[in-house]
Amino acid sequence: MTDGARRTPKFPLRLDQMSVAKQKAASAPPAREVLRPQQPLQHAAATSARKAMPTGLGLDSAGVRRRMVERLRQDGLRHEAVLAAIAHVPRHLFVDAALATQAYEDTSLPIGHGQTISKPSVVGRMIELLMGGANARTSGQPARVLEIGTGCGYQAAVLARLARQVYSVERVKPLHDKARELMAPLRIGNVRLVYGDGMLGHPPNAPYDAIIAAAGGESLPAAWIEQLAVGGRIVAPVSDNGVRQVLVVVDRTEQGCERSVHEVVQFVPLKSGLVR
Ligand code: SAH
Repeated sequence: MTDGARRTPKFPLRLDQMSVAKQKAASAPPAREVLRPQQPLQHAAATSARKAMPTGLGLDSAGVRRRMVERLRQDGLRHEAVLAAIAHVPRHLFVDAALATQAYEDTSLPIGHGQTISKPSVVGRMIELLMGGANARTSGQPARVLEIGTGCGYQAAVLARLARQVYSVERVKPLHDKARELMAPLRIGNVRLVYGDGMLGHPPNAPYDAIIAAAGGESLPAAWIEQLAVGGRIVAPVSDNGVRQVLVVVDRTEQGCERSVHEVVQFVPLKSGLVR
């Protein structure tokens, strides 16, 4: 999903985006579909390789993770619970065996179908923002989180350490299946993986205290706003003038929605419809 988040936007933001602007969010149109050729998923091969794999990480992947977390802390990630969650989840198990030695570098990696696992720093940053939502702050954790774009399931596994219940939607069936397979050995009881078009949110379990998107569209789909609880927060990449993406935070209040714009990011496109 992501890459290349920069803390400081390189280009001038429009004035209305620099300040926290109150917006009538329900008027947001659905994101535009962006078509891309599919790439084969090396799923079966990766799975069998993983079973026999010496990861090259030795027995101390926890130690490698701790060092990665220290680097994230030095780079400005401050939320201790988020850092602890990242320190806990074995990211190397979510990528192909051949990429396992790169799993604890701060880089995105391919997961098949033209998609990528997010950079740890971007996962951390987005979840840190998510934890700043009113409901998450009040109760210490968001009770119900909706993730758009399961991918390989890594971010869902991190979210599971921080939220009571996570619903994660993926539109590409082979990726949805792969995430299920990768997560099974971790025995995570509070993530429900959903095969569906996340642009429609996931109405059965709405409202959500937090919605986090791992893919970016032209605007925030109206369904996400509609399915956000009062006191809930959305963190999502949104295209800014079609040239680049910025992280957008939307807080739902009794009065409406407040929107703020954060750093420039690079996520895969949010697409509508399903891939079988
Ligand atoms: N969170 C993932 C990142 C996956 S990349 C991880 O930790 O690995 C982003 C994912 O969003 C891709 O798998 C892509 O297929 C998915 N995606 C894009 N548009 C979507 C939509 N409308 N609904 C659900 N998933 C979508």
